[in-house]
Order: sequence, then structure tokens, then C-alpha cells
Amino acid sequence: MAPDRNLEGRIIAAHGRHYTVELADGSLYKCFPRGKKAGAAVGDYTLIEPQGVGEGVIVRLLERRNLLYRSDEMRTKLFAANVDLLLIVVAVEPAFSDELVGRALVAAGSADIPALIVLNKIDLAAALPEARKRIEALRGLGLVVVELSALDAAQVDAMLAPRLKNRTSLLLGQSGMGKSTLLNALVPGAGAFTQEHSVALDAGKHSTTSTRLYHLPGGGDIIDSPGFQNFGLSHLTAGEIERGFPEFTPWLGQCRFYNCTHLHEPGCSILAAVDSGAIARARHDLYKRLLQEHEMQTRY
Ligand code: GDP
Repeated sequence: MAPDRNLEGRIIAAHGRHYTVELADGSLYKCFPRGKKAGAAVGDYTLIEPQGVGEGVIVRLLERRNLLYRSDEMRTKLFAANVDLLLIVVAVEPAFSDELVGRALVAAGSADIPALIVLNKIDLAAALPEARKRIEALRGLGLVVVELSALDAAQVDAMLAPRLKNRTSLLLGQSGMGKSTLLNALVPGAGAFTQEHSVALDAGKHSTTSTRLYHLPGGGDIIDSPGFQNFGLSHLTAGEIERGFPEFTPWLGQCRFYNCTHLHEPGCSILAAVDSGAIARARHDLYKRLLQEHEMQTRY
């Protein structure tokens, strides 16, 4: 129990009940949280107390720079902690959801994490112009968009890999966008590694590993999380939601009322910008929905 027996490591996989912690020397420990409370996320730095061969207890989490998560009605789902860049993968086909991309951007903005859009499957030439049209709106928000085909490893290497060097990136995307293909291009053998790793750690073949951190060959890490169908953000406060809309920034502080919610107030500069077309109505609608969800959450 002596404190000096504690070792520092980083959580690189979450398997439901337990976690895989990697130490600086590369050794892996299968760790359980102390007590019932979990709350640890992939990307967290932690102190563990080794117990037996390759096993340990998470004594405590070290301070995190940020935490990305979503919350749907009853439960909270952690994506990752200590993230430097959010990579949102969308595809030329099937069509991506503006709603989910918008929500992912708000999650990143509220946590002060820069986001980058990857438009994948640009080899699907027939559908490319339409996809580019939809992507234009995102470029208009000041986002960097990297166009590539994840099937072309050389393209991934040239277009994306340099942007991921020496930082921790989180990969998010709806299923079908090509996230696994992209991960395999960035980290050759990532899929196979997950399998072997689960077996080695006795997590079983049908391990419930949902989120996993991989080391990039060129330096840096990438965290893969499962595809999602919904992205609740009811935990965000009104101020955090507002920060998720960078296009509001030039108008903030110009409303008639200092505590304007930008929903219906007279003299609201944001509503005026929506009416003039300077702010996209669809984005303001998302803002309204997020505020409503937050209010519903705090009411019960
Ligand atoms: P995930 O659900 O996001 O992990 O998507 P997958 O990586 O499993 O890819 C979904 C489908 O899209 C698979 O059939 C892939 O082969 C295909 N796919 C992925 N990237 C590309 C690409 O750049 N071009 C084309 N044409 N197909 C791709």
C-alpha cells in the first residue's frame, strides 16, 4: 500500500469493467477502478498500484486538460480525455448527418479542442460535387477540411499523417464513413492488434473494448471510438453551447440585453444575423435544440 509503489501510466483502452493502462516503458496492466466509481476515460493519465502480474488498481486519475463526452437521457458516455485535436470523418457516400457533425463541433468547441474535418471516399467521383457543396458550409465556419480516400495509404500519409504528429487526436464518425479503413491506413494492423491485445489481456475474443488509443508510427497517438447514432449534449451549459458556434462570435456582446439567450429577445444581434443570412438558420436551429435539451435536463 506504500504510495511509492504507485506507477504512472496512460489509459489506452476501456473494456467496460476494466481498463488497459500503459506505462512509459510500454508495459501493459489490466486495471480495475478502486471502488465502484468508474469515470476514467481513454487518454487519462493515472496512478496505478500493481497487484499481481500485469494487473493493478487505478488509485487516482491525474488532472486532465479536457474531457469529451456525450450524454443521452439516462447515461453518460465518455469519448476520451486529454485530446489535442478532434478528427471528424465524413464521407462522400453515404451522406453524412449535419446534425451529428454539428454536435461533434459543439462538443469540441465547448472543450476548446480544435476540430478537423476529413472528407473521405473522394474516389467516388459522381457524388463528390454534391458532398463538396455540403462541406462548403463547414469551411465557412473556419474549419480545415482534408479531402482524401482512406483506401489510398499514400494519400493518407501525405494529407493527414503530418497533422497528427506528436499530439493526441480523437477519431469520430458515424458508421460507414470509413473510420476503420482510415485508422488502418494510419496505424497499419490496428484492427488485428485490437484482437491480439484483447486475447493477451484475457479480455476474451468478444471483449467489449469500445475505445482504444493507438500510437502513430510517425509520433503521436490516435484514439478510436465506436461509431454513434446520436450525440446528446444535455450536460453543456448555455455558455458552453454558445462557444460551440464560432460564427456567433463577431456579434456577441451587441445584443440589447446583456443576458440575451439569442432565442426570441428584441434587439438580439444573433437573430438579426440569422435574418440577414450571415448566420445559417440551420445552425441557429441546432443552437436552439441544444439549449432546449439542456433545459429539459436541468428541470428533472
Ligand atoms: P466505419 O464504419 O466508419 O468504420 O467504415 P469502414 O472503414 O468499415 O468503411 C465502410 C465502407 O466504406 C467499407 O466498405 C470500406 O471499404 C469503404 N471505404 C472506406 N474508405 C473508402 C474510400 O476512401 N473509398 C471508397 N470507395 N470506399 C471506402
